Amino acid sequence: MARSATPSQEKAVLDRITAAGFKYEVIHGSTGIDVIGILGDLSGLEESYFSEIDGVDRVMRISKPYKLVSRQYSAADKVIDVDGYKIGDGGLALMAGPCSLETEEQVMTIGAYVSALGIKIMRGGAYKPRTSPYSFQGMGLEGLKLLARVREKYGLKIVTEATGLHRHIAPDGSLEKRNVLENVIEYSDIIQIGARNMKSYGFLQELARLTVDSRKPILLKRGDSSTLKDFLLAAEYIVSSGNPNVILCLRGIRAFEDPEFQRFTSDIGAIAVLKSESNLPVIFDPSHAIGNRHYVDSVSLAAVAAGADGLLIETHNDPANALCDGDQSLTREELDRLMQLTLKVHAAIH
Ligand code: PEP
Ligand code: MN
Repeated sequence: MARSATPSQEKAVLDRITAAGFKYEVIHGSTGIDVIGILGDLSGLEESYFSEIDGVDRVMRISKPYKLVSRQYSAADKVIDVDGYKIGDGGLALMAGPCSLETEEQVMTIGAYVSALGIKIMRGGAYKPRTSPYSFQGMGLEGLKLLARVREKYGLKIVTEATGLHRHIAPDGSLEKRNVLENVIEYSDIIQIGARNMKSYGFLQELARLTVDSRKPILLKRGDSSTLKDFLLAAEYIVSSGNPNVILCLRGIRAFEDPEFQRFTSDIGAIAVLKSESNLPVIFDPSHAIGNRHYVDSVSLAAVAAGADGLLIETHNDPANALCDGDQSLTREELDRLMQLTLKVHAAIH
């Protein structure tokens, strides 16, 4: 839209889009609507159908398969506001916590030191997508309630994973009343979608529909065998279904590496590609990418130097006895050191 466009001209464009049977997404600027994205198959439509309306500056087709998340659609960086805390605004968003929530003592101990280190977002899985059905599947709703306590006590924001639309079987064998997504929506500040679910398109759409009003931020992880195009199209599923607040999270991909040395291969180069192709914030999860606490700092520093907007890090008060991902979980001291190092690198390149 032209800067001088009036509200009634904006409305005329939106009405014409609706009359033609299309949906739209709007980006607001300081003087009103900046950009209107028209969604659907517009191949049979002439540009003039919209450009002739007063107040329209220009009409442009987005050639990328992913549209709303592309730089072509919006050149400006998308900044995600998590209740006042910004992700993607040029700062370094650090998120840390255990792989899985285990006990009250564990959650409160980790919450206390994460907060004391100055980290504002705590992670922790209540629903765990484990490769083996015999591994610990997570505390479920009881874990989410612990997150609510740690959130209340330390003012931390919470990121936790929703694994699907099913009802979880609690550790005591009982079936939870509501489905996993409904529970996670209630207890989280950021909803994590794991690598395994990146391609669960129906789930992504339902997630977006259920958060269409709250627009609660969604942290979407890259599938371990997905291309970057697939990753961006998965983000597009969420944004086009009504929730524009997506954070892209890289977490390593499958290559030819021996998992004994590297759990996955760190896709550091993808940070620059995603930042250029997409307007969404990009964060990196060094813990799952490398899978070994001794290398987490190197990978983190590389990710920050490459332009990552944040890091998602696993930490545990007793890594040797963690129920999940202890090998890659940092101790408090290691997390403290990592923070100091990454903040230095971040400051050096900004
Ligand atoms: C996690 O963050 O604990 C997790 C299960 O990650 P991913 O989906 O990347 O495997
Ligand atoms: Mn984990």
